[in-house]
Amino acid sequence: MKTVLEKADQQVESDPDDDIVDTAPDFYDPEADERDAQWVSELMNEKSDAILHCPLCFTRICYDCQKHTEYNQYRAMFVFNLKVIKSELLNKEYHPVECRECGCRVAVYDQEEVYHFYHFIAEPLVVVNGSKSSC
Ligand SMILES: [Zn+2]
Repeated sequence: MKTVLEKADQQVESDPDDDIVDTAPDFYDPEADERDAQWVSELMNEKSDAILHCPLCFTRICYDCQKHTEYNQYRAMFVFNLKVIKSELLNKEYHPVECRECGCRVAVYDQEEVYHFYHFIAEPLVVVNGSKSSC
């Protein structure tokens, strides 16, 4: 009389094709990417030229911006994760704007409440550092 263990061995041997079947649990959620993309497109104005990220910590800072026609800059009315430094004034006109996460200066804020980005990573990926000041 065979033991249970021997029977199990025999079954494996008698059907070697079973070994090929991948029974590992599937941790990848194929719908996750799609959900993320949808979430971003909901936030993003369809007319937006890019999604902007902080160049140092990659925090998303703008989903809705227009590319400047002459310079490699973007302007926007609505931003995320940024802090306007109202106590400072550049050229008597602009307040510097910092990333909330890392303090990197990425834009200026004008009297018409428009943000002008000059230091950022834009998606589709373009790295821009138009700043002469240290970051
Ligand atoms: Zn940052």
